[in-house]
Amino acid sequence: DTRHGAILYLEEITVSFDGFKALNKLSLDISVGELRCIIGPNGAGKTTMMDVITGKTRPSSGTAWFGQSFDLARMSEYDIAHAGIGRKFQRPTVFEQHSVFENLELAMKMDKRVRPTLFSRLSSEQKGKIDAVLALIRLHGQAARLAGLLSHGQKQWLEIGMLLMQEAQLILLDEPVAGMSDAETARTAELLNELRGKHSIMVVEHDMGFVAEIAQQGIVTVLHEGAVLAQGRMEQVQADERVIEVYLGR
Ligand code: ADP
Repeated sequence: DTRHGAILYLEEITVSFDGFKALNKLSLDISVGELRCIIGPNGAGKTTMMDVITGKTRPSSGTAWFGQSFDLARMSEYDIAHAGIGRKFQRPTVFEQHSVFENLELAMKMDKRVRPTLFSRLSSEQKGKIDAVLALIRLHGQAARLAGLLSHGQKQWLEIGMLLMQEAQLILLDEPVAGMSDAETARTAELLNELRGKHSIMVVEHDMGFVAEIAQQGIVTVLHEGAVLAQGRMEQVQADERVIEVYLGR
């Protein structure tokens, strides 16, 4: 079984928009616990790939598996989210009128598996879980603060925390450090490095300094014209003539 050990397995995915192939036989797999960086010039197909994984866009052909049992091409966006794929878009979407703590609590209670507790009090175990995530996302001192009052970077961390509360099995992050200060970007790299090995994460990012920080022990995939152009360690990918050409060529 070629899918063994992979949490996500894409094989020859093609997405056509009026004959134009946004993805052109894209094959890619992500191992459990991996932190994978996806880079590539504008128009490479990164967003379309995320849309296929989350069920927003149907592939014209190809196979997309999540774990051993979920055929993503046959599932609705809703079912995919509930199966455990969590996506964070570029713009943070937190509940601004609620506290940081409540945002994490709501995220946990939106998880279908714990929904019966929506109107019940938190157990000490649940509180402990929220506290652990608060510490991880560097918002321990801000638990009572309204989410709407957080900085842009803090909102991004909170949203990552919400995905962790929902126990997303695969986390997709779309340009997580866009608009962040240098200090926030560095802390985000630390945070993601702490999650490595414990969660399966796919990060699409343009900030190459940031990618270098989080790709140290991992694999970087370069997309171009809807397919994988190069894949490997950051040093290999950076030195690859084809990669240099697509970044500098036009
Ligand atoms: P990236 O995220 O890497 O910048 P995208 O996945 O957004 O790339 O886009 C890949 C290509 O597909 C681009 O050329 C884009 O113009 C095209 N594309 C994306 N979505 C659509 C759509 N809904 N209709 C037509 N073309 C699209």
